[in-house]
Amino acid sequence: MQYNKLGQSGLKVSEISLGSYLTFGERVNESDSVRTIHKAFDLGINSFDTANVYQQGEAERILAKALKSFARDDYVIATKAFWATSKGPNSRGLSRKHLVEQVHQSLKRMKLDYVDIFYCHSYDYETPVEETLRTLDDLIKQGKILYVGVSNWNSEQLQEAIQISDKFLFNRIIVNQCEYSLLKPDIEDTIIPDSEKLGLSQIVFSPLAQGILTGKYNKQIPELSRATNPNINKFFTSLFTKESLRKAQQLENLAGEFDLSLTELALSWVLRKNNIASALMGASSPKQVEENVKRLNKQLTSEMLTEITKIYNS
Ligand code: NDP
Repeated sequence: MQYNKLGQSGLKVSEISLGSYLTFGERVNESDSVRTIHKAFDLGINSFDTANVYQQGEAERILAKALKSFARDDYVIATKAFWATSKGPNSRGLSRKHLVEQVHQSLKRMKLDYVDIFYCHSYDYETPVEETLRTLDDLIKQGKILYVGVSNWNSEQLQEAIQISDKFLFNRIIVNQCEYSLLKPDIEDTIIPDSEKLGLSQIVFSPLAQGILTGKYNKQIPELSRATNPNINKFFTSLFTKESLRKAQQLENLAGEFDLSLTELALSWVLRKNNIASALMGASSPKQVEENVKRLNKQLTSEMLTEITKIYNS
């Protein structure tokens, strides 16, 4: 496993991170979740991602409980806030009030003294960025969070934040977390190079397009997969189209020609860019973690990249 530094910080994360949305505390029970998290750690993954709203806090609780088996120095845990936690007017967004309350609640649920990376889960058009960054800087000074990340912010929003941090000498944001995969390459020519110029890394989520890029749906829909989850969200349904399945099949055929699996191709493709520090995948069993981590460090030739581009642009 390779470990990459985040932004201009000294923090190192494994090139594969494990997430917890729609898995731990949802369809994966607690003991299977713990086994999955332990398998990831044993294979060298040191970077784990969650959020206050994933499974109403259950994902945070289970993830932190599983990681308690290991030395605190040996894992990096990231959580987030933005999305509504109740109906109250202050129960959503990036205001000082909501952020401080959510950091306290997350630490309590996880029984941790600090979180390594705290993400703004989305951009908040109602709160001045300066208020948000000042609050996060205060939380760093209080030792409750170590580093700041943002998620789903565009290039202009990143630039605004960096300018404010530099002006007031706040701790700088070190990472932006966005979706990036062969089926969602949208940030390729914008956010990836722009954040590199600003000194931020990327940890990219859903590199397997929620499972579609494992090829698991190419023949039939397996029982107990994300596609059969009755609580599934619009992010999955908008990806799970005939068009995506056609591309997944074509990419699987191409991978086969180069003696690769589709998963191997998909993970290697997102990790080929220097500024992508980690591919943030999900897994619902230790077996899935093992299969995916085995498929790392494959160099994609320029011939393969040309063929891949033809398929995702088709
Ligand atoms: P992936 O694209 O890696 O999809 C993961 C899913 O694919 C698994 O849960 C599993 O689904 C399936 N899968 C993975 N490996 C295999 C395998 N070897 N064989 C068969 N199926 C496999 O990532 P996610 O979409 O889960 O996102 C990863 C993480 O990113 C989340 O947990 C979360 O932490 C973060 N995230 C952040 C967001 C943000 O806004 N910042 C938004 C969304 C996610 P199954 O077994 O259920 O079919």
